[in-house]
Amino acid sequence: MQRLTGIGVSPGLVSGRAVMLNQRAQVLRYRVAESRVGSELDRLEQGRARTRDQLREIRASIARRRGPDLAAIFDAQILMLDDPMLVPRAAKLVCDQRVNAEWAVQQVFEEFSAIFDEIVDPYLRERKGDVADLVGRLKMNIRQGLSTPRDLLREVDEASILIADELTPSLAAQVDWTKVRGFATDAGSRTYHTAILARSLEVPAIVGLHDASRIVQPGQLVVIDGTNSELIVDPSPDVLARVARAADEAAAPVAVEHDRARPAMTADGVRIRLDANIEFPDDLAAARYAGAEGIGLYRSEFIFSDGPDAVDEEAQYRTYRRMLEGMAPGPVTVRTFDVDEDQLAMNDTGATLGGGWGADQERGSRQGLRGLRLSLSRPELFQTQLRALLRAASHGTLRIMFPFVSGVEQIREAKQLVASAAADLVRRGLSVPPIPIGVMIEIPAAAYTADLLAREVDFFTIGTNDLIQYCLAVDRADERVSLLYQPLHPSILRVILMVGRAARRARIPVSLCGEMAADPALLTLLVGLGLTEFSMTPGAIPVAKHVLADVRASDLKALARRVLRMATIEDIEHELLNALGRFAL
Ligand code: PEP
Ligand code: MG
Repeated sequence: MQRLTGIGVSPGLVSGRAVMLNQRAQVLRYRVAESRVGSELDRLEQGRARTRDQLREIRASIARRRGPDLAAIFDAQILMLDDPMLVPRAAKLVCDQRVNAEWAVQQVFEEFSAIFDEIVDPYLRERKGDVADLVGRLKMNIRQGLSTPRDLLREVDEASILIADELTPSLAAQVDWTKVRGFATDAGSRTYHTAILARSLEVPAIVGLHDASRIVQPGQLVVIDGTNSELIVDPSPDVLARVARAADEAAAPVAVEHDRARPAMTADGVRIRLDANIEFPDDLAAARYAGAEGIGLYRSEFIFSDGPDAVDEEAQYRTYRRMLEGMAPGPVTVRTFDVDEDQLAMNDTGATLGGGWGADQERGSRQGLRGLRLSLSRPELFQTQLRALLRAASHGTLRIMFPFVSGVEQIREAKQLVASAAADLVRRGLSVPPIPIGVMIEIPAAAYTADLLAREVDFFTIGTNDLIQYCLAVDRADERVSLLYQPLHPSILRVILMVGRAARRARIPVSLCGEMAADPALLTLLVGLGLTEFSMTPGAIPVAKHVLADVRASDLKALARRVLRMATIEDIEHELLNALGRFAL
């Protein structure tokens, strides 16, 4: 038995088998039962086969478009895929350590990384990026169909305890806490947002353990004693008896289940609208189950991951129609394609955008010919999408939204293309209902001209994922500046306030669909800033409802007024977390 002391941030005593999450590398590590080692090896092999097929397709496509030199990068990756140090070595780790395939691949990558770091020749040293790219693709293909941490946790057989290097609130908001009984993290303090969330959910938790994720092994029996700030590894029978007594005394831990069906409202009766962000039509079921009122953001570019045929007008029409019917009478906000030219070229092969985490990182920092800019430069592609959307419109409640808009001219041009797509359909004898047209506010230029943009459109959706990186000049895919990616920076709060006001003055609805909304502490501050509509990953919706029901909008408004006068992120965070601790959670 070993006791590790950290900071108990949410009381309670629970036991379970350790599941390890390396959030920085975005990979889950769990022990697989002896009987499942074979299927884990199959997943590894299938991941390799899918990766090889994709790389060959990408290679051929790049060779066609950009010539053989660039394509050679992918020859090297295909060769690496068959290196005995990669997949066979990972397979050995799966067998010897009985760990999941994805983790084994990550381990092998770390071994590779250490070797590359020692290399003196800068050219060779930089080839580490190619290995990282290949390994990222391999992991994505191993976890195919299981793209989020929540999906992965479903793979875990038994009641478990999550041990992580760190755990972001938006990720914590998506975990099924009926299966995962508690968590412990290396990082964090009492005012860690995730700690607040844990108290709200009544999930026992310890943070600030420094190296628990190195000491604990997957599958090891552990106890979280949140009350006494201890993580107990390999507990004695006495400790386990204490856990069993505590379980008998405790009521059902997670109150979130009751929240699913009812609409979101603050304790003083302010109605908050919660919609879901989705990438695939199949995510509709999760959105409905989570209690989303509608789809606030459908990232339509994920259609490309089904291959070139999925993008013809008929196929798109079927996809949109299915989604509108599935969500009716709730609205579905379809964001037109947000891809850049490279992604478009890659996606002719159906090879990218399909994964969850990896894709999000790839999406992180593009600022060229992308989003509406790209659509306007490819009128055929855009018109096809618009015609498919307008045809589907009569099957539910559709809203069309343009991404990455930086000026009024773009909106006017896009609206003309909508009108001409509608005219095409009328010529075909179809009737087209009027459709609300909105824009994402995710470029500072759009935010600063929100009053002007508001005259041109029917609604705004604030995309903080991009808005933060462009306001702060922080590439969110660049690890070296990731600490500067701060939603609580005073400039971000002001810009959100400004956009909200412009929308209210113009009497158009405004919602916010960035990751920020999925963090319950940040969500409450956003309500204080006057926003009442949000769209988030479905898994975060029940928690958001639960947290909102405990706070008064009037308190949040006063909190926002105080926070808006503060100059540093540290002061803002401190004020926010103290206030939340006081009035609710
Ligand atoms: C955003 O930028 O906040 C957003 C929701 O869009 P994406 O993450 O798809 O860029
Ligand atoms: Mg965006």
